[in-house]
Amino acid sequence: MRLLLVEDNVSLADELTDSLQRQGYAVDWLADGRDAVYQGSSEPYDLIVLDLGLPGIPGLEVLKQWRAGGLVIPVLILTARGSWADRIEGLKAGADDYLSKPFHPEELQLRIQSLLRRARGLANQPTLEASGLHLDEGRQCVTREGEDVQLTAAEFRLLRYFMLHPQQILSKSHLAEHLYNGETERDSNVLEVHVNHLRRKLGRGVIETHRGQGYRFGGVA
Ligand code: CA
Repeated sequence: MRLLLVEDNVSLADELTDSLQRQGYAVDWLADGRDAVYQGSSEPYDLIVLDLGLPGIPGLEVLKQWRAGGLVIPVLILTARGSWADRIEGLKAGADDYLSKPFHPEELQLRIQSLLRRARGLANQPTLEASGLHLDEGRQCVTREGEDVQLTAAEFRLLRYFMLHPQQILSKSHLAEHLYNGETERDSNVLEVHVNHLRRKLGRGVIETHRGQGYRFGGVA
């Protein structure tokens, strides 16, 4: 999953980027509201974390412009501690959730996981489940028939994307756009290698190849 982080406090942004990347998210970072208006609506993000106090255009205005332009992905706003007015204005402008600074990184992590599941219509799942697999996003480990299967970081990122989009045919370019940030070179051969590793670990039938179209997750593991 690919996230946009809009935060002008550089040390906080660095810290959040590191922590989100460790959790297997591809992260693009912007500090200016003007850049955010454009990039947020032109790149295929899965979720946006948006600070409200920003140079250029204030975060609230950025959010209003995104929503007016038809952007439907989850947006989590970061607000100053105790600023209930900010939170109310943020929710009115179309935020899906908010977090007051300072916050614990784990709280952000859990809120992001839950927003992403909810956006995919999987709000009822406390952990990600599909095709007999349970994905533990905290441990980055998948369980199959009660047994843990260890995953590399890249396999985890790919499997999470598949499990959030079961039964959909996903092209390699689509997958690459959602698994890598804007600065990573995208190599579809690498994706193929990870798909094959997942099949070896989880069963061949779990990911189908649709020639010329892409991959579909959701067969029998
Ligand atoms: Ca700020």
